Amino acid sequence: DAVVHWFKRDLRTKDNRALHLASKKAKSKGVPLICLFIVSPQDYQAHLTAPVRVDFELRTLQVLKEDLARKDIPLYVETVEVRKKAPGRIIELCQSWGAKHIFCNIEYEVDELRRETLLTNSCLEQGIDFHAVHDDVVVPPGNLTTGQGKQYSVYTPWYKAWIRHIHENPTILDEFAAPEQNPASARQKHADLFKTPIPPAPENKKLNDEEKERFKALWPPGEHEALDRLSSFLNKKITNYKDARNIPAANSTGVISVHLSSGTLAARTAIRSARNINSSNKLDSGNEGIKTWISEVAWRDFYKHVLAHWPYVCMSKPFKYEYTKVRWEYNDEHFARWCEGRTGFPLVDAAIRQMHSMAYMHNRCRMLVASFLCKDLLLDWRIGERYFMEHLIDGDFASNNGGWGFSASTGVDPQPYFRVFNPLLQSEKFDEQGEYIRKWLPELKNIKGKAIHDPYGRGAGKEAEKAGYPRPMVDHKVCRDRCLARYKEALGKS
Ligand code: FAD
Repeated sequence: DAVVHWFKRDLRTKDNRALHLASKKAKSKGVPLICLFIVSPQDYQAHLTAPVRVDFELRTLQVLKEDLARKDIPLYVETVEVRKKAPGRIIELCQSWGAKHIFCNIEYEVDELRRETLLTNSCLEQGIDFHAVHDDVVVPPGNLTTGQGKQYSVYTPWYKAWIRHIHENPTILDEFAAPEQNPASARQKHADLFKTPIPPAPENKKLNDEEKERFKALWPPGEHEALDRLSSFLNKKITNYKDARNIPAANSTGVISVHLSSGTLAARTAIRSARNINSSNKLDSGNEGIKTWISEVAWRDFYKHVLAHWPYVCMSKPFKYEYTKVRWEYNDEHFARWCEGRTGFPLVDAAIRQMHSMAYMHNRCRMLVASFLCKDLLLDWRIGERYFMEHLIDGDFASNNGGWGFSASTGVDPQPYFRVFNPLLQSEKFDEQGEYIRKWLPELKNIKGKAIHDPYGRGAGKEAEKAGYPRPMVDHKVCRDRCLARYKEALGKS
């Protein structure tokens, strides 16, 4: 007999609800706990998972396997090539281990819910108890409703309700204990499971050697690293977060999204830890930096709530249906220049180059490059959304889709479509000294003063040209007018 915990995007032992419950169940029945992870190449393909993210996940599984083994708990990782076969394979494995209980944390995306429905039905047929619990977000989708019993589709009122709910139910931030030691016999009984290695990345998601080394140094895997990063941010930076968070060169944010999105860190742990160091011991009062950071982590919860209640956003549809009629440009050359970071707008290009180098991009820059793609180039936001997923180590469907919807004005944000970022003004405001630009566009590093924001327009054209840096590919003012006209047309306002 045994109890199984099925790991997904919850790759940690601490503060993991389903793992905690699985361990309790195993203990109460006096049977071993077995952990399982399924590598699904077709899911990686369907969800455009970046190779760097797959690599991070596999490296994390190695850390997890070692941590669990110290408690005599095996972690068995298997590749299942055809994704529809995953539920059947999980049942087969449980039967071979004599397991009568499977625990896992719920993922809210459509494909994952469909997979879980299949598994629920198979478990029912086979007499296996299947327990899927809420853990990925602090407040599970469905818990917050408006006075009329409806779902919130706007962040600010939702956030107020989110805060109220947590303050009224403070135990939802309590930590779940890590799993207990397995009976020593688990080592002998399941010796093979301790020995099986973590499989390699699927062929089409492999990094080359140079990338492997670069990303290994930048992004150490596992929950210990996540907790170290969290505590270093809370000790050193969070109190200045409100003022510094929008300055890409300031290195003032948590840089913790890879951990929240792969589950090496629980959102609950992040919020609880921030609250505990806040003078007010509350989420929305006390230190401004702490308050603001908590409200940013809450965006992650919010976008998962949107996904759970309006699942059509998982199917390439804009949240605001009327925006399906926007006539996008289809210009491969423009898209290629955006992807290469050769638009001639230095902050946009610096941001794209940061993503290529680190598999990460600062939030302010994500908003700017996304706005530039959808509003200046008038390219369909979905190709940008896709490109981000294919390159980010923190690629997360809900946050990425929400961010692109925000930038293209097709999402939940109530701001009207005529908010169009001006790349030059954004650059002057958020990278005043050009530090971030010079870091990521080394060809411009010798350009002095304000010319860094617009070399060709500010008398440094010759130097830029010599360095091989392109002229701006479009005229922002013309693009802005075109964008407003197209959006108006789509909404029947022209
Ligand atoms: P911090 O500022 O330290 O914030 C802490 C955590 O809060 C983040 O790690 C993240 O989990 C959450 N968070 C902060 N801002 C947001 C936000 N606007 N939306 C959702 N969650 C937020 N975030 C992802 O995790 N994955 C993505 O694929 C992703 N794609 C994005 C695409 C676009 C177009 C935009 C505008 C934003 C996107 N974001 C995404 C949100 C945000 O840019 C990143 O979460 C953030 O930059 C991560 O850096 P950090 O860990 O230092 O954040």
